[in-house]
Amino acid sequence: MSLSDHLTKRYPVPEERYVAANVISHEIARRFRAEANAAPPLKACPGCGLELELTAFGAHAGRADGLQVRCRSCRRGGCV
Ligand SMILES: [Zn+2]
Repeated sequence: MSLSDHLTKRYPVPEERYVAANVISHEIARRFRAEANAAPPLKACPGCGLELELTAFGAHAGRADGLQVRCRSCRRGGCV
């Protein structure tokens, strides 16, 4: 079993894994830090006021983040 497998088993929470790996090796810590930061990003919808995963928004090539301003259900249902 590799060291990173061992850490994955011992520390189920990504943040804890990153901290533990930091003590052992910066190389491994870098990998686990990327994983800890990989929680799905959220985007606030001004229509319904919710923070939603990016998959809830349609594509919009003209915008900086490449997504529509309002979520799919707002655009479809016209809640605002
Ligand atoms: Zn919405």
